[in-house]
Amino acid sequence: MIHPHQDIVIVGSGIGGLSTFLYLTESDAFKAGEISICLLAKSTLSTTNTDWAQGGIAAVHAIEDDFEKHVEDTMVAGAHVNDRQVVRKVVEAAPALLNDLIRWGTCFDKNEANDYDLAREGGHSEARIWHAEDQTGHAIQAALMQNATASDNSNILENTLLVDVIKDLNGLFHLQVYDESHKCFFEITTSKLVLATGGVGMLYAKTTNQHVATGDGIFMAQKLGASIENLSYVQFHPTGLVHEGNICFLVSEALRGAGAVLRNQQGEAFMHHYDERLELAPRDIVSRAIITEMNKNGETCVWLDATHLSSEVIDQHFPAIKSQCKALLNIDIAKELIPVVPVQHYSCGGIKVDAFGETNVSGLFAIGEVASTGLHGANRLASNSLLEAIAFAKFATEKRLDKNPEVQSPVPVHFNLECFDINRNQVQNLLSQHAGIIKTTKGLKDALAALQTIKSNAVSVAFNPFNFASGILLEVGILLIEDALRQDQNRGVFYNEDLVNDLVS
Ligand SMILES: Cc1cc2nc3c(=O)[nH]c(=O)nc-3n(C[C@H](O)[C@H](O)[C@H](O)COP(=O)(O)OP(=O)(O)OC[C@H]3O[C@@H](n4cnc5c(N)ncnc54)[C@H](O)[C@@H]3O)c2cc1C
Repeated sequence: MIHPHQDIVIVGSGIGGLSTFLYLTESDAFKAGEISICLLAKSTLSTTNTDWAQGGIAAVHAIEDDFEKHVEDTMVAGAHVNDRQVVRKVVEAAPALLNDLIRWGTCFDKNEANDYDLAREGGHSEARIWHAEDQTGHAIQAALMQNATASDNSNILENTLLVDVIKDLNGLFHLQVYDESHKCFFEITTSKLVLATGGVGMLYAKTTNQHVATGDGIFMAQKLGASIENLSYVQFHPTGLVHEGNICFLVSEALRGAGAVLRNQQGEAFMHHYDERLELAPRDIVSRAIITEMNKNGETCVWLDATHLSSEVIDQHFPAIKSQCKALLNIDIAKELIPVVPVQHYSCGGIKVDAFGETNVSGLFAIGEVASTGLHGANRLASNSLLEAIAFAKFATEKRLDKNPEVQSPVPVHFNLECFDINRNQVQNLLSQHAGIIKTTKGLKDALAALQTIKSNAVSVAFNPFNFASGILLEVGILLIEDALRQDQNRGVFYNEDLVNDLVS
């Protein structure tokens, strides 16, 4: 059993949570035994979107590259809605952060000259993607987990779900937590709470995200009074593999970076009709181009053609894509076309934080995909999200989290946990149909009304984690659609065809 008071509680075991944990365990305050830290993960430690990241993590390294180019690429992808100061801070920190990942044991691929083998992805003007085959996230997750579980005094709790949080009058956070292994609740108080709970993929019928991506951090932060922004800036990945089920396997951008071509049902390459950067245009442009091609002909997918790539390139760089296409659809990607559609992939908005990852609620931090830092603007540049998570873990721990917090006595609080019988599929279908790649004002209003009806008709049931998460999805879905209705301009990933202004991208 852990001590019921912790100085810092981190919720989440992806790159955001674990790198925050590791930076803290390296701090003087922790080494001197002055701060206690606990990390919770609602499933196993490795069940994270981080573990599934394929392409890699962006950082300037090549001689022909420079920070200015990475900054500009990030700003262009984000439709200049980004905070340029934040972009510069993250881009300039990136090489040192990559060194930290390497120091913690991540092995990035090297080339024949024994230098790092950098890939180029959509929207990047230079090759700057550090990768470990096409399983970069898995390599990072494994290294972080190994280090975190090896350190002493660590309180790392798997299958432990944060279900409620209240801030008391003395500024302490009271967490209500569900221990899934023992089917019981317990409470922790903490001075500083770090939400690193990841994305919102489960809001949609088709997503690349893990089942843990149910927007819990957004829900908790909103409840505590934190500002949430741009939740409707949802990035769709252009090339989700077409197969059964809610969670789709992602065919990484890196395959297009290596030369794979998108073709319509007639077998014609079509990206030259939409953008001069062709298959490597930013994801919003590629996704809309695919939807337009599909709509033109009433088709359900387009095709990704990697048949002209050599077997060596496929085997060396894309073993996971090759094996998943074989396992799920019995397709040999060296010889056959891959059926793909755009699927929900990444939440660009989220809990608004400052340059050190702290929200407007003192002591409440948000790190990783759950946060809105200003880095991505209206669209995330590929491979900038793993970078953002470790960058803000570093910024937060260096300046705010490493201080020994003043000890306050807790003021008793009363939790009132509620769980409802929500039809999750209904929520997902409403979001997919009306808050997808191309939106209309009427569709958004209809979806909002339908979600509110589901909420008013919801029947209370005994607590179980699945229903509880469905209730959170409903609340976050409402927030997302309200945000979409507030947007008055089409930019980046956001596109409502009823807005009269031209698309800025
Ligand atoms: C298929 C795929 C490929 C991707 N490829 C890339 C890529 O190549 N490059 C790139 O930069 N980005 C990529 N991304 C995006 C990137 O992986 C994620 O944005 C990033 O890993 C998010 O990290 P995180 O730490 O914020 O969240 P996650 O890694 O998703 O971790 C979330 C954690 O929060 C925990 N959690 C959630 N709610 C609760 C709760 N209530 N109580 C307790 N714990 C909770 C979960 O259990 C989990 O441990 C990809 C994403 C996917 C899905």
